Amino acid sequence: MSDLRVRFAPSPTGYLHVGGARTALFNWLLARKQGGTFILRIEDTDVERSTQESVDAILQGMEWLGLDWDEGPFYQSSNFPLYKEYIQKLLDSGKAYKCYCSAEELEARREMAMKEGRKPKYDGTCRQRTDHPADKPFVIRFRAPQEGSTSFDDLVKGVITFPNEELDDLIIQRSDGTPTYNFCVVIDDVIMRITTVIRGDDHVNNTPRQIQLYEALGFPVPRFAHVPMILGADKTRLSKRHGATSVIAYRDMGFLPEALVNYLVRLGWSHGDDEIFSREEMVQKFDIGNVGRSAGVFNPEKLLWLNAHYIKAGDPQRLAGLLLPFLAERGIDPQIGGPDLPTVVKTLQERARTMIEMAEGALFYYRAPESYDETALAKFDKEHLQAVYGAVADKLATSAAVTAAEFDAIFKEICTDKGWKMPQVGQPVRIALSGGTQAPGIGEIIVTLGIEETLLRIKLAQETVAGR
Ligand code: GLU
Repeated sequence: MSDLRVRFAPSPTGYLHVGGARTALFNWLLARKQGGTFILRIEDTDVERSTQESVDAILQGMEWLGLDWDEGPFYQSSNFPLYKEYIQKLLDSGKAYKCYCSAEELEARREMAMKEGRKPKYDGTCRQRTDHPADKPFVIRFRAPQEGSTSFDDLVKGVITFPNEELDDLIIQRSDGTPTYNFCVVIDDVIMRITTVIRGDDHVNNTPRQIQLYEALGFPVPRFAHVPMILGADKTRLSKRHGATSVIAYRDMGFLPEALVNYLVRLGWSHGDDEIFSREEMVQKFDIGNVGRSAGVFNPEKLLWLNAHYIKAGDPQRLAGLLLPFLAERGIDPQIGGPDLPTVVKTLQERARTMIEMAEGALFYYRAPESYDETALAKFDKEHLQAVYGAVADKLATSAAVTAAEFDAIFKEICTDKGWKMPQVGQPVRIALSGGTQAPGIGEIIVTLGIEETLLRIKLAQETVAGR
C-alpha cells in the first residue's frame, strides 16, 4: 500500500452525473495504480437539498461502474461536532472572529464599493472588534491573510496563484451556527488524511481559501488536481439539454459499464492514440499528469462505437444475464422456454450496438413473427416464395445438419440445384423465421431456434403466402 489517499466527494442532490463519474474514475484509477486508498464521502451538509434517494442513486452508479471504494461512505453530516471544535480553535487563536455586520449593512457597503469602483469584498469592519454584543446574531469569519498570495501547483493545470487581497474573510460558520462548505471540506480532508484532491475545476476558486485554512490550522496541504468540465457539442457545460447525463440512464439505455468507463477515461485523458482500454490497462497506464487542460466534449457517437465494441467482445454468458431485464421489459422470460439465451446472444453480438438493440434483435427467437416485412416480401413473386419455402422445408426435414456451417451449406446446395442466387433464398427464409430481413446468418438462426421451430415457421410463412 502506498500513502496515497484520494476521495470522491459527491453532494447527494441528484443522480450520479457522468462528469462526477469521471472525477470518481480518475480518483479510483490513481488509487488503484499507486496502491493507495480510495474513499467515498457524501457531502450532505446542505440538508435542504440532500436526499437519501440521491445517496442511493450515487452508490448504485458507482457500483455499476465498478468503482469500488476502500473506506466509507462517510457522511459529512456526522462530523458536525468536529467542525465546531476546529472553529473554536481558530477563534481561540485569533485566526477567526465573530462578525456582527447585518445583511443590510453588508449590502449597503457592497453597493457603495461597486459605485466607487472597488471590488465588493468584506471590508473587515469586525476584524478588530473587541465588544461582543450578546443580543446580536453573528457569523464567524476566517481572518484571511491580506498580503502576499496563495499559490498551488495543480497536477492538471500547473501553478495557479491568487493575490490574497482578492480573497474575502470567508464565513466559516453561519449565524444559525452551521459550518460552511469550504470549511467542512478542509476538515474532512484533514481527518481523512487525503493526500491528493482530484475534483472538477469548478472548485478552483475554492482552493486558495481552503489552502489558507489548512495553513491556519497547521495541517499539511494536499496536492490538487482540477479536472476540466465535460461540455456538450455546443461547448456549454454538459447538461440535460444535451441528452442523458445520469450514469444509470446510460445503463438503462443499454450501455455496458466498461464502455462508459472506457469512454469517460478518454474524455480528457489520453495515452498516445489508444482508444480501447481494459480496466487493467487503464490502471496501468493512467497518469493524472496526462489529463488535458481543456474541457472534453461529450460525443454520444463515440460512446456508441465503444459500446458496440464491448458487446462484440463480451462474454455471451454475462451479456445474457445483462439482457434479461431488457427482455423482461418486452414481456419475454427466456427461462420459461425458447432457445438458450447465451446462444441467442452469440448470434446478435456482431450487430447490436446497445443492449436494447440486442433485446429487440432477440425478440423473434422467443416470439414467432406475427407479421412479415411486406416491403421485403414484395420483392419476390408468390410462386417463387412458394417454391423456396417448399424446397427449404423438404431439405431441412431430411437433413442431418447440426452446425450453422452445415445449414449454410444446405442453402448453397439448394441454390445450385434450383439455379437461385443466395439472397433469393436467404431473404424469404429470414423473413419467415424473424419477420424481417435484419437478422443474423440463416445457419445461426436455425441452430439457435432448433429445427422443429424452424420448420414450423417456414410452414406458417408458406401457408400465409399460399392464402394470398
Ligand atoms: N461536493 C463537491 C461537489 O459535488 C465536491 C467537493 C470536492 O471534491 O472538494 O462538487
